Amino acid sequence: MTITIDGKRCTCEKGEKLLAVARRNWIPIPTLCHHESLPGQASCRVCLVEVVQQGRSSVVASCVYPVEDGIEVYTNSDRVRAERGMVLALLRKRAPDSQLIADMCRLYDAPDLDRVKVSVPGKCILCGLCVRACTELSVGAISTVNRGVTKEIATPYHEPSAVCVGCGSCASVCPTGAIEIVETADTRTIWDKTFRLVRCARCGEPIGTEEELAHAARKGGTEPDTLCERCRRRSMTDVLAATYGDRE
Ligand code: SF4
Repeated sequence: MTITIDGKRCTCEKGEKLLAVARRNWIPIPTLCHHESLPGQASCRVCLVEVVQQGRSSVVASCVYPVEDGIEVYTNSDRVRAERGMVLALLRKRAPDSQLIADMCRLYDAPDLDRVKVSVPGKCILCGLCVRACTELSVGAISTVNRGVTKEIATPYHEPSAVCVGCGSCASVCPTGAIEIVETADTRTIWDKTFRLVRCARCGEPIGTEEELAHAARKGGTEPDTLCERCRRRSMTDVLAATYGDRE
């Protein structure tokens, strides 16, 4: 099927999400809660676009909207910019310390919303991407707790989690850098729990926490890694060279 995005004709498959089609065609749509290895969740709603179908126009979240043949899509129309600006204005109230949100608000002329109270200081927009990333690891160390203005992401009872492996995936997917991760030469501290870092047996670069490597090994049914990605590739090349190198 064919759709039009900002005047560009794009071919796509039934069931594909609009955001995926736009990205494949190098048409930028801003997102915060989206990660390419996880399904869309329309949590932040920054990816709003305008869809015109049979003369009727609506604004939809592109990360979860399945394409339909012949639709016309506008990613930056006046209506989209106004609605995206309002979404960002509300996110700024939720995460007043986020520089990224402040910058995006400027870009979209987001209204001040003086009457809406700031919930709590911080950078978290509660998009839940960190929780989903952790759950994907099948560890599930963090979750959304409380309701309303006290809603937050936390470990159970705000205690260091028994199941967290310190992989840092939650921090790396967080769009606003809200999750603090502190590394020294030998340790990584995240969610109030400190882990010992394991170094590559060959080059000495840190390759992960002991718990993270043990968890990955358990999942893969192997022994924990002792080499970093680069050295593992190099050692494989060495083996191949030793096996086939002298055949000429
Ligand atoms: S660091 Fe802990 S909480 Fe974060 S993704 Fe890894 S296991 Fe989950």
